[in-house]
Amino acid sequence: VSGYDLARVRAEFPILRETVRGKRLAYLDNAATTQKPESVLRAMDGYYRSSNANVHRAVHELAERATGLYEGARDRIARWFKASREEIVFTRGTTEAINLVARSFLAPRLQPGDEVLLTGMEHHSNIVPWQLAGAKTVAAPVNDAGELVFEEWLKRIGPRTRLISVVHVSNSLGTVNPVEDIVREARARGIPVLVDGAQAIAHLPVDFPALGADFYVCSAHKAYGPTGFGCLVAKREHLEAMPPWHGGGDMIRTVAFEGSTWNEVPYKFEAGTPDMAGAIGFAAALDWIESAGLQAIAAHEHALLEYATPRVAAVPGLRLVGTARNKGGILSFVMQGAHPHDIGSILDQEGVAIRTGHHCTMPLMERFAVPATARASLAAYNGEDDVDQLVAALHKVVRLFG
Ligand code: PMP
Repeated sequence: VSGYDLARVRAEFPILRETVRGKRLAYLDNAATTQKPESVLRAMDGYYRSSNANVHRAVHELAERATGLYEGARDRIARWFKASREEIVFTRGTTEAINLVARSFLAPRLQPGDEVLLTGMEHHSNIVPWQLAGAKTVAAPVNDAGELVFEEWLKRIGPRTRLISVVHVSNSLGTVNPVEDIVREARARGIPVLVDGAQAIAHLPVDFPALGADFYVCSAHKAYGPTGFGCLVAKREHLEAMPPWHGGGDMIRTVAFEGSTWNEVPYKFEAGTPDMAGAIGFAAALDWIESAGLQAIAAHEHALLEYATPRVAAVPGLRLVGTARNKGGILSFVMQGAHPHDIGSILDQEGVAIRTGHHCTMPLMERFAVPATARASLAAYNGEDDVDQLVAALHKVVRLFG
């Protein structure tokens, strides 16, 4: 994309200067986790160096600094989603956010036989928590291109549907789901909706109020931020009505042996000393995305996907899995005669980092009748050189296994 300063973006990611197996690193495992820019590393390091203290408690200066930075991060993250700060519950990531909703929102409303409607492309973290809560999980089918079959999805909304949950962008295939249409249909029927934005927030703008979903969940580490941190964005009225799920410090108003009362939202859901550096790192990551320009990043990734798709597809014996019309920067594929694990190992020898396996989407692998795929996934710092290195390494796989 003209005007996109790839060299400048890359210069901000120190890890890209590493060599692996003696080769230039082509990091194409961004759907698993993204690398972190200097600004995020500095924000987290700086916090521990000059502001570290426990938050919300002491009156001393460091505690004030820590609380200011931590709650400032909440404001920053809320602004990203155009939500209010009371609607941002900090979690360890997408997985914990879904578990929170399953336990605290869904479980109390469930009768035996009640259902959660999903799609066939959900991550395990958007399947198992609902099952643990006691719901029956129903999945709408995915077509051969890896797209949700919308009419079939609609047909599966029934009198027992207590919640609808859908992945915004598929981590395995890159498919972008029509979440606006899904939310509209769900709301017309009075059914709450959760959107799993783990693979979306670094690539698409998310306007929580405009989308109208009840819950939106994400992880910082897939958006240039730290691991083990993320958030649940939830309508305030839900958070007010939901019981707390983890008990401990900070989530209470009063504690007595006869019974306790709860803090206001969102603190009611944040028991214990939180991950201050995580919040600060996430906020810095969103600042970084904003400064690079989310639209510019998305356009760059789209152009790179267009560059990569025909070149990867032309590798003899290679079959792309997932060819949705509306697709993020993910290429999933299988190759004749080579198990995905072998592909991954040979690519690694060539300095190309990809992910192989079921990508925590076993039902989707079953749908495509493959045990696993090899997956290359793009981020802001990838370029045509990374794709060329990938394609050259794939031709080596063909020479060895083809
Ligand atoms: N949903 C999707 C679509 C994902 O890609 C992932 C991470 N692979 C998750 C949920 C879980 O995220 P985390 O492991 O950060 O909780």
